[in-house]
Amino acid sequence: MKIQKVADLIKNSNYTVILSGAGISTPSGIPDFRSSNSSIWQKHDPMEVASLTAFRYNPLKLFEWFRPLLNLIFSAEPNPAHTAIAEMENAGLVKEIITQNIDGLHQRAGSKTVHEIHGTITTLTCTSCYLQFKASQFLQSFLNHNKIPYCKQCGHLLKPDVILYEEQLPYNTWMLAEKAVNNADLLIVVGSSLVVTPVATLPIIALNNGAKLVVLNNTPTYVDVRAEIVIQDDVAITLPLIQKEVLSER
Ligand SMILES: [Zn+2]
Repeated sequence: MKIQKVADLIKNSNYTVILSGAGISTPSGIPDFRSSNSSIWQKHDPMEVASLTAFRYNPLKLFEWFRPLLNLIFSAEPNPAHTAIAEMENAGLVKEIITQNIDGLHQRAGSKTVHEIHGTITTLTCTSCYLQFKASQFLQSFLNHNKIPYCKQCGHLLKPDVILYEEQLPYNTWMLAEKAVNNADLLIVVGSSLVVTPVATLPIIALNNGAKLVVLNNTPTYVDVRAEIVIQDDVAITLPLIQKEVLSER
């Protein structure tokens, strides 16, 4: 019943925007790297290794901290939730995707307009000349040979384009995300508990503009009370059902 209602909202919307969080990638085997609940991160206080200050003092420690996550991301595949969103986007029923995830799985599933507000593991940027590189080759040689990535142009250290603690969100990407939310008449939160600011403010911006809100997450969020529909379940199960419903009667 709720699935049908979400499908109807999507079909009746002119501008559906998705806001995704860690919960869409956990079915692909990737834990929330900011969440202290994930056992593999409990060895270190993330602030001690995954902050900008820590990276400047001890870059190796950050890469070592990233190692388990890198291994998981390199072996991960997009799951049916990513695919369902990509297919709805390709059918013109989803316009833009804002994600808190750094794993690049939306794009690998075929999504095109993706705003990665917490950055991405798929590229690295030089800390001196700001030249950007594709990450795969550098990170594979880190994983296999413990080689820290250095700039091919100037020789300085490369930093993953992931937003670390203490770091500002990427300005242009954030502006595009805000614009997407301002254009939206339907915002669907997928697998985000909405506890990290400023991302958590995006549904409020949408609501204040008169957009409708749907929350698909396996735990409650603070905006549930203002949502048209809330489905608390695994998004890798609910999203393909919604997509099937949306695309069946066209
Ligand atoms: Zn450089």
